Amino acid sequence: MFGVPGKPSLAGLGIGFDLDHTLIIDNKLERVAFLRLLEHIVDHGGEQKSGFEAQGKQIDELLVAQRAGRMTIEDAVRLFVRDHAVSDPEPYVKQFLDIAVSLVDPLCVPQPHAKQVLRELARRGATIAILSNGWNPLQEKKARRLGFGGSVLASAQIGAQKPEPQAFAALVKLLALPQHKIVYVGDDPRVDIVGAVAAGMRAIWMNGDGMSYPTGAPKPHATITSLDELSDALTVFAQPTL
Ligand SMILES: [Mg+2]
Repeated sequence: MFGVPGKPSLAGLGIGFDLDHTLIIDNKLERVAFLRLLEHIVDHGGEQKSGFEAQGKQIDELLVAQRAGRMTIEDAVRLFVRDHAVSDPEPYVKQFLDIAVSLVDPLCVPQPHAKQVLRELARRGATIAILSNGWNPLQEKKARRLGFGGSVLASAQIGAQKPEPQAFAALVKLLALPQHKIVYVGDDPRVDIVGAVAAGMRAIWMNGDGMSYPTGAPKPHATITSLDELSDALTVFAQPTL
């Protein structure tokens, strides 16, 4: 069934979503996956050289580097595994990826209204995709957890992180719409809003935590505090004159 009674069509409008903290909370999934991997390493003769607090700090540092685009998730796992006296890290790389994906269902929690708003926007005719700083298949699995069956672009596969222009260019290419007909929704001003505005898109800031907007950063075209405000916020962008 197409259309939502009382709501204008969004046909011809593209909507790009950030994933983590915008649509879903992953409850430190990758940190848990590293600790589970450590259990396997020790079970198979590796060494746990320090307590869990120090291990956690090392894992957090690796994840910060990976999220900043300084290393791939595979290289982060290789460094971690070698540091625990394992000579061939490759089997553990695959194991880590499998563990992380398997943790999506038990750990990830959709943001309130995320599943409903994705369904509604699709029924109103919008073309929807996710653009996330992260890696597939993990981000794809999170999207499926939301009931979203569409495309999920992940920075590791694109080779560029938001707010880099190449990341948003990949979204434009995928949606096959002019930039000004694309609205990007994200929670991180410096990553999502700065990048989307620079790419010529409309940007909606999802400010679920009551944060102040960073001084000097380009302003979003609209701000919402909950995803149930998104449907009405998008209606203005559906007008043919915009
Ligand atoms: Mg985010």
